[in-house]
Amino acid sequence: MDCIRCAGRMQKRPVRGVLLDYCAPCDAIWLDEGELEALLSRRSRTRAELQAQEQAEASRESSRAVSVLELCPRCQGRLSVTYIRAIPVDQCSRCRGMYFDQGELPAILRALRRGPLARLWMRLRGSRAAGA
Ligand SMILES: [Zn+2]
Ligand SMILES: [Zn+2]
Repeated sequence: MDCIRCAGRMQKRPVRGVLLDYCAPCDAIWLDEGELEALLSRRSRTRAELQAQEQAEASRESSRAVSVLELCPRCQGRLSVTYIRAIPVDQCSRCRGMYFDQGELPAILRALRRGPLARLWMRLRGSRAAGA
């Protein structure tokens, strides 16, 4: 899946049982519908479920020849700005997925008084050097 800002390939990263799409250069995150709630509720998926999800997403992405920037990276629907705790987020009008620019999701988690969850970024960033 391509990042809507830099067109780079976003990496799939399982965090706390949720399969995030992460753009290392932008430090941006894509969450599919329900994944923010899953992060907050610890309604995590098993490793096997995450692997099945990753394969399904990868095959859908490879079947799409062209990815248009500024459209939803998942389904190419139209993105519009929505506000979570006064923080603007790009949300797809079709699949309801959300794109968080650098720092937006941690700010939202802190606003929701889920500060400890925001530390998952340290893990995502920390693995950048190792993964690159
Ligand atoms: Zn990017
Ligand atoms: Zn979409």
